[in-house]
Amino acid sequence: MLIVQKYGGTSVGTLERIENVAARVIETKKSGADVVVVVSAMSGVTNQLVDYALHYTKDPDGVAMDMLLSSGERVTCALLTIALINLGYPAVGLSGRLAGIITDSVHTKARIEAIDTKRMKEELKAGKIIVVAGFQGIDEKGDVTTLGRGGSDLSAVAIAGALNADLCEIYTDVDGVYTTDPRIEPKAKKLDKISYDEMLELASLGAKVLQNRSVELAKKLNVNLVTRSSFNHNEGTLITKEESMEAVLVSGIALDKNQARVTLRGVVDKPGIAAEIFTALAEKNINVDMIIQNVGQDGTTNLGFTIPQNELHVAKECMDKLSASREILYNDEIVKVSVVGVGMKSHTGVASLAFQTLANEGINIQMISTSEIKISMIVDQKYGELAVRALHEAYKLDK
Ligand code: ADP
Ligand code: ASP
Ligand code: MG
Repeated sequence: MLIVQKYGGTSVGTLERIENVAARVIETKKSGADVVVVVSAMSGVTNQLVDYALHYTKDPDGVAMDMLLSSGERVTCALLTIALINLGYPAVGLSGRLAGIITDSVHTKARIEAIDTKRMKEELKAGKIIVVAGFQGIDEKGDVTTLGRGGSDLSAVAIAGALNADLCEIYTDVDGVYTTDPRIEPKAKKLDKISYDEMLELASLGAKVLQNRSVELAKKLNVNLVTRSSFNHNEGTLITKEESMEAVLVSGIALDKNQARVTLRGVVDKPGIAAEIFTALAEKNINVDMIIQNVGQDGTTNLGFTIPQNELHVAKECMDKLSASREILYNDEIVKVSVVGVGMKSHTGVASLAFQTLANEGINIQMISTSEIKISMIVDQKYGELAVRALHEAYKLDK
């Protein structure tokens, strides 16, 4: 039996908490399982490192940035390894490089391309507990890369997949996946199970309890994934293939605060313009989300789109380079609120209830997008949490 356990920032936030993690890891080891532990940086450390770099420039060099960011996880990895050995359990700490995690070269949001499991397999065979520094790998050149914010979840799932682990447990500071962020709506309910597809939507739409790419990979590799708290022994949430038996209409509400809107006014209405704009953004690896183009009038049109807020300054540079005969507006005081549920596939009226609920609260919807299993709405930042609570109640998720 092989178990991969990942401990997030809060769970390793102090030296005492790292000791608590060591005790839990030893408990699992004593039960007879082999254990690979993936750790995050202590809470707040990655943000602090980002702030250090931003002191010099808004657009730091990627290679240097990843050298900096990856250091947080290495600290925790080393400390947990020392704690385990001190408690009498042979352990070895591996950086992303030593764990064999090979990525592409898109610095600060690299994708894992392969995992060379040789070293990890040797260490397991020797009976050691392996502690891996999450969130990082190396590219072909040997430069350190990082996997995007929340990327330790991805490290854990990728390692679980590569080693064919029986279970991948994501330990965090809440008991599992809830119907919405329990810090926004205390009446949120913990889910015992959720399907990969619904979890993927929730995570992609801002529920940071799991990083979205980790869910995508877990689905692809069929990894048994559980999220639970590192502070108690409550049952967590199982993320599974099955869709819920009772065909729940809506399983959760997500809020994404990392959003910004760009509006181009008076764009020339001719073929190739959208291609020019979105190619420029794609070349800078900016993920464009919602796009709205109005019906053209007098040879021009208006084009609006949303991007991650932390990429706004790079997007501005791209826009400045394009032909300037138009007005460009930027708004980073927006958020995206989303309703997610597989039941929407077979029910009507789900979207209209969302719109009516926000209307009743006097909240204006700036943009809308829908898919088979979600409805997303862009609203003013100051109404984001109110919208989440109102929708949570409207879909009776507290019942
Ligand atoms: P870690 O540091 O352990 O990776 P994160 O802060 O990344 O933890 O993720 C856990 C947090 O996710 C919780 O503290 C909670 O505020 C937030 N969260 C957002 N949406 C949800 C949800 N639907 N269910 C549970 N937690 C959620
Ligand atoms: N430390 C990184 C972050 O804060 C990665 C992680 O915690 O998963 O984003
Ligand atoms: Mg996280």
